[in-house]
Amino acid sequence: MTNKVRHVLGISGGKDSAALAIYLRDKYPELDIEYYTCDTGKELSETYELIDKLESYLGKKITRLMAADQSSQDPFDHFYHIYGGYLPSSNARWCTKKLKLEPFETFVGNDPVVSYVGIRGDEEREGYISKKSNIQSIFPFRKNIWSEDVISKALKNENIKSLSEIYKFQEGDKASRALEIIEQPISSKFTIQQKLNLLLDNDTKAFNAVIFEYLNTSSYPLANEQSFPLIENDEILVREDIFKILRESGVGVPEYYEKIEFEVEGKIGEYARSRSGCYFCFFQQKIEWVWLYEQHPDLFEKAIQYENAKDGFTWNQNESLEELKQPDRIATIKKEYVNRKKIATKTGLLSDSLLDDAEEEGCAACFI
Ligand code: SF4
Repeated sequence: MTNKVRHVLGISGGKDSAALAIYLRDKYPELDIEYYTCDTGKELSETYELIDKLESYLGKKITRLMAADQSSQDPFDHFYHIYGGYLPSSNARWCTKKLKLEPFETFVGNDPVVSYVGIRGDEEREGYISKKSNIQSIFPFRKNIWSEDVISKALKNENIKSLSEIYKFQEGDKASRALEIIEQPISSKFTIQQKLNLLLDNDTKAFNAVIFEYLNTSSYPLANEQSFPLIENDEILVREDIFKILRESGVGVPEYYEKIEFEVEGKIGEYARSRSGCYFCFFQQKIEWVWLYEQHPDLFEKAIQYENAKDGFTWNQNESLEELKQPDRIATIKKEYVNRKKIATKTGLLSDSLLDDAEEEGCAACFI
């Protein structure tokens, strides 16, 4: 392992990773970030357009990683045949592993790597990310920029003494409050999450500085760095901020996020796609399949061909795409969607779009 730390950022084609690239370039230009994207061969054309625009904004190349790049087939089809024509599903997600994670791990090799991940401050997920020990994930949009494993190691009761020693070098009321919190052991009545929240709420920057110093004694990639500008970051970015960054930079929001009006039995609704990734991704909602059928009929037909290639295999668990595309079924999906959205808006239980919520389902490697 060399000691030179590489800083990398994966561009999925989604809005969050694109906004993160812009945000870090503008706010922390001193970070020498390598950008990459994992191309499955099955992305929407809007994704490729976004990557091109982003490349010119960043003024840097975005390395295209393709699994099985010696194959005569595109990455997805290559592995689809190796897996005997079994379509991937949420229970058998060979696609993310083979088409995203493995090419990324080959790209970074054994170098110490800090990988920036665009999970937002309004999301509750860690995502499907590499667990290799030479890769450390950082989440700049969240209040807690550190990964779960770093926090669970750092805040272990046996580290109370060493963290207190680090905090002792800080001054002021906040420092003495931080010491009180640090000295309270984790127990069934005081969870690690509560302790973390109290420390972050007390003084985020001080907490980050303490964790960075703690990491010096670890084998994490950041132990090789003398300084790390992100410890000064206490901003929390949510969905609206992401759209603002994309629009203000001129890069723009990927076309498929833009809502399109439809009419069903005299009612008006709106649909869009909520995620990047393969056009046939099994994580998409029924209304997104309808969007694909109406906005990209050629791709919808290609998705059907995969279902027809092997008996009993469908992208959705309970219906085939042939069934889904029937006019009655499409009208039902649209009606249900409009009604659910109406109820959600009325009760205020959900945010302004059901698609916003559906977005949470999926994986960090594909959709952020
Ligand atoms: S976008 Fe969906 S189908 Fe494509 S690799 Fe990711 S999880 Fe698999």
